[in-house]
Amino acid sequence: MSQKNKIAVVALGGNAVSPKGEKDTIPNQFKHTRESLFAVKHLIELGYDLVITHGNGPQVGNALLRTELTAEQTPILPLGICVADIQGGMGYMIQQSLQNLLRQENIHREVVTVITQVVVNKDDPEVKNPTKFIGQYYDKSKVKQLMERFGWKIHQTSSGEWRRVVPSPVPKSIVESTAIKDLLSSGKIVIAAGGGGIPVYFLENENLEGLDAVVDKDLASAVLGCEIGAQELFILTDVEGVALNYGRPNETWIKKLDVNEAKRLYKEGHFPPGSMGPKITAAINFLESGGECVIITSIEAIKKTLAGKGGTTITK
Ligand code: ADP
Ligand code: MG
Repeated sequence: MSQKNKIAVVALGGNAVSPKGEKDTIPNQFKHTRESLFAVKHLIELGYDLVITHGNGPQVGNALLRTELTAEQTPILPLGICVADIQGGMGYMIQQSLQNLLRQENIHREVVTVITQVVVNKDDPEVKNPTKFIGQYYDKSKVKQLMERFGWKIHQTSSGEWRRVVPSPVPKSIVESTAIKDLLSSGKIVIAAGGGGIPVYFLENENLEGLDAVVDKDLASAVLGCEIGAQELFILTDVEGVALNYGRPNETWIKKLDVNEAKRLYKEGHFPPGSMGPKITAAINFLESGGECVIITSIEAIKKTLAGKGGTTITK
């Protein structure tokens, strides 16, 4: 519990809380949150000081749909507010589930969720040319009307569907990182940067202002990890590790990788944007800014990965 413990950031994938192909009701989300904490508990038992970050894809999609369907009755919620609301809701879910688990296990640690803002550049190229698809899939006949009504950009995805597109600017720094570090050094387990954090930028008078955008949770987790002096970053997702030629007949799983190999394989196109790509970029950024080790694996495989028998471990 002292500063001597290793600090790790654990990034939980959206699928950990709300698996693809299942109804994302709140009882289901609680159930999967509890299951996903198996990995967190293991890391606490190993003596890590932990910050837990998490994705919010399905949840933010539902929040946007709610605001779209009730636009006549209630004020429209901007994307930044949706991200903030979900940091609260998912933070509560993870926080309470972890508190219950720790109590059952007789582990005396406090758990706290921090509403987290992430500084981005308001002139990031993504702001003018957004690329991140979020929310519902729409019928082509509805697209024009929605764009006019809500001021959205809606583009066709590579698979031919129509979907809202928003900026996903590069995270530069975390506004609350000093507070998070202080919480860690007094033994708290911290949940932070939910959904990648609420994107903000500095005005000329140095005040913060929100931006209608989202931040990739893996990239934000790497920035947060560097700022709090974390040695390790665990990216927990729905595959056991990183593969070469993923999904092809010649697919092979990678156990160990260094930064240079990761960069080379990235250039060769093994890690697509929007899924494995940002995880590998996050790993490279973290390791080049002071981090020692990045592990990419599933919740189920965390134990065997730490024992050197699975997952993907990336080092400098
Ligand atoms: P998360 O919600 O955890 O961020 P993502 O869907 O963004 O999950 O990323 C994990 C997905 O990345 C996997 O389910 C897998 O389909 C995909 N993927 C793409 N390329 C690779 C690769 N080279 N190795 C492993 N998984 C890959
Ligand atoms: Mg992802």
